[in-house]
Amino acid sequence: MTAPFSPDTLNSLRSELESKARKLFIDGEFVAAASGETFDVTDPATGETFASAASGAAEDIDRAVKAARAAFPKWAATPPATRADMLLKLASLIEREGERIALTETLDNGMPFMMAKFAGVMGAAGQLRYNAGWATKLAGETLTPSAPGEWHAFTLREPVGVVGSIVPWNFPFVMAVSKIAPALSAGCTVVLKPAEQTPLTAVILAELVQEAGFPAGVVNIVTGFGATAGAALAEHKDVDKISFTGSTSVGKSIVHASTGNLKRVSLELGGKSPVVIFADADLDKAIPAAAMGIFGNSGQVCAAGSRLFVHEAIADRVIEGIAERARSLKVGAGLAPGTEMGPLVSEKQLERVLGYIESGAGEGATVAAGGQRIDGEGYFVQPTVLTGTASGMKVVEEEIFGPVLCAMRFGDGEIDAIAEQANASEYGLSSAIWTRDISNALKLTKRLQAGTVRINGGAGVDPSLPLGGYKASGWGRENGRAGVEAYTELKAVTVAL
Ligand code: ADP
Repeated sequence: MTAPFSPDTLNSLRSELESKARKLFIDGEFVAAASGETFDVTDPATGETFASAASGAAEDIDRAVKAARAAFPKWAATPPATRADMLLKLASLIEREGERIALTETLDNGMPFMMAKFAGVMGAAGQLRYNAGWATKLAGETLTPSAPGEWHAFTLREPVGVVGSIVPWNFPFVMAVSKIAPALSAGCTVVLKPAEQTPLTAVILAELVQEAGFPAGVVNIVTGFGATAGAALAEHKDVDKISFTGSTSVGKSIVHASTGNLKRVSLELGGKSPVVIFADADLDKAIPAAAMGIFGNSGQVCAAGSRLFVHEAIADRVIEGIAERARSLKVGAGLAPGTEMGPLVSEKQLERVLGYIESGAGEGATVAAGGQRIDGEGYFVQPTVLTGTASGMKVVEEEIFGPVLCAMRFGDGEIDAIAEQANASEYGLSSAIWTRDISNALKLTKRLQAGTVRINGGAGVDPSLPLGGYKASGWGRENGRAGVEAYTELKAVTVAL
């Protein structure tokens, strides 16, 4: 099998990345961190350092926020159609640079190259195009107050101001673009903080933002660590909103940090999403989908279907089907031809996932497939299926963020009982239902505490579909109308006539 990318592009990319540290992008310019410090970037497929990036901290964040503040009034007043044009231009530039972006993403995060291309590059371009459309469509309403008198009453939608966007390492590029696209469309200016594990594609994004001609300060990108750059952004008194995607524990610290100026906070956090397969489901579709729902991107997906509930009549077949898929999945470096599952992002993440597998076995779970680290270089773990799991076990309660499925069975019974099991989690991000019985599907849908329900496959992440969680899975929704409106304030205006 030949590689789906040009080896020349990869070689020149590697030497470019080795030659110099990536810089911060503040006020339209590429600059070193104020401290002059940089940090190493590691390839999770080999464990080797192959690049470095500027280690931005509080002082850099402050400069970036000042630039975003200065740029805000003009950007907010820019005609919506002009803002839309710029987002569309950025989408085209991202496609032009698609190969370089996807290669960088794979080197940095480890994901299979094709995933970096489709979920990453195409997903990002799609987000920009979708949100470009909203720039010209955001609008208030006219209203009818009941107070005595004659009124003209209406709402105005105004951009919220300077936005701090903090993104994780699991889908670095598309996450970064998904944050900035609605914010820019609504007329906000942005300071983006990529994850320290995966800072590189955000720097390409900065180059393309510059090329697209966004005015200086509209988009600022500060690479650096969570405890320094991230915390400084969350605390900053002149940031009007933080939009965060990442772990629930960091989400909570962002809420604390935001209290200084009571900035608006949107949180897209963890999940422990249930997949419910009824006895009448189309198993030829449900089995591979359930497998990829947990093994895709090595399970490092907030909406990963990590708890399987399967009707006892088909449980053996389904669990064995998924276990078989786990055993046959091609695990390897994201740039190796045919790789279906890459490494985990870091040694820390590898240890975390192995720790959970061990804890599951310690609490009485059976390892039906996988369960081991894959020997050799890099942070690889086998796709793993645990059976004999039950609520109360750590592996069932906590988000593992790795390719580990907990399989459980249910018998004939009420939809309410199935819903109760599925809802027995502090999280409520996503869910999946497989059945040919539309009534059962919709009854369960109504009972599930989850921001997303996918019936018989459903759609993946799409810019038009609201994404977010119930309970500890977050605050607010991204994507769709709700996603862009989350970057606005609503002003009620009444005129006594
Ligand atoms: P982890 O790396 O432990 O999995 P997350 O996935 O939650 O943590 O990290 C998501 C993003 O949050 C990253 O960009 C990270 O740098 C940032 N971050 C981590 N800690 C903080 C913090 N205290 N304040 C703000 N951002 C943070």
